[in-house]
Amino acid sequence: MKKHIYADNAATTQLDRDAFEAMLPWLLDEYGNASQPYAFARKPKKALAKARAIIAECIGAFPEEIFFTSGGTESDNWAIKMPAYSDPNKRATITSAFEHHAVLHSCAAIERLGFPVAYMRPTKDGYITPEILEDYITDNTRLVSVMFANNELGSIQPIKELGNVAHRHGAFFHTDAVQAVGHINLDVHNLGIDMLSASAHKFNGPKGIGFLYVRKGIELPPYADGGAQEGGHRAGTENIACIIGMATALKKNCDTLEENQMYIRALEERLLRQLGDAGIKYTRNGGSNTLPGLISLSFADVDGEAILHRMDLMGISISTGSACDSKNTEISHVLKAIGLNENLAKGTIRLSLGKANTEEEVTDIVRAMSRIFS
Ligand code: PLP
Repeated sequence: MKKHIYADNAATTQLDRDAFEAMLPWLLDEYGNASQPYAFARKPKKALAKARAIIAECIGAFPEEIFFTSGGTESDNWAIKMPAYSDPNKRATITSAFEHHAVLHSCAAIERLGFPVAYMRPTKDGYITPEILEDYITDNTRLVSVMFANNELGSIQPIKELGNVAHRHGAFFHTDAVQAVGHINLDVHNLGIDMLSASAHKFNGPKGIGFLYVRKGIELPPYADGGAQEGGHRAGTENIACIIGMATALKKNCDTLEENQMYIRALEERLLRQLGDAGIKYTRNGGSNTLPGLISLSFADVDGEAILHRMDLMGISISTGSACDSKNTEISHVLKAIGLNENLAKGTIRLSLGKANTEEEVTDIVRAMSRIFS
């Protein structure tokens, strides 16, 4: 069988084996419902509390500030929609034009209900600066939502500064940190973040599980009504196995964050150096402060889709835009938002390297690209 090289870690990551093994007992033997009062429910209840504490510690939060969800999309929906309904006087939301669709489509939903939303345009490198936010914000702003790091460009936003601007105007600050959690150091309290969305499958946890951090003191209306789970804020029997898997994967990633970053940065530099050595001319998008391993490259006069499919035939998985856009051959809204010219936008691919990639794989990726460009 042809060797498979996975270079699309921003779309999803491989489930960590320790996380997988940590999940097993909760799927088989310890199947009790954590909400029940009898002894058989005690273990899952304790495990749930432990997982919440582990996750909180990884992002500098208190355990009671962590609410389990089904992933990044649900966390974003909750963070965007619920604040809009909660104050009849402060009604406006501000976000950026290059957010993930989980944020953009949630914003569109509240707009349809009559809540105004403004979409900030990022710089051409892919950043929302505090000055850009200052131009949009008013004292009617209820919520500012800017992603921690862009999923197509990798650009890491000035979160603390943006949060400061929001707070000066009495607005909440939410960040979609789906691409950042488990990959870069972040401390929600130090950064002054009010709400943060995360998704386990982006940091080697299982799919279909994530969390929303909500700063203590914020009265966020419930996302799902029903039972008393998640403090009555997100009803539904907890997915214990996936929550344990998420906590295990996040802790492992956070404990090895610096070494992972150094390793992945070295792979990234190797890839760019080898592309240069091979005489392949590219423009890198995303400016100078990007997520380790997330590389958005544009090539003139070529079709990014064609590169993706030829790489696929050679056993290499990469992306053109975000995974959620894989059926859409239009230029991505992210590349449009940064004003990339159409020729380069059409010739854009995203490589996202992770801790499981090797130097040999990077060399094979460049070799495959050399074949395509020769
Ligand atoms: N936000 C960002 C920035 C993402 O990259 C993604 C997934 O690609 C999501 C949200 C959606 O997360 P999930 O797949 O957990 O629903």
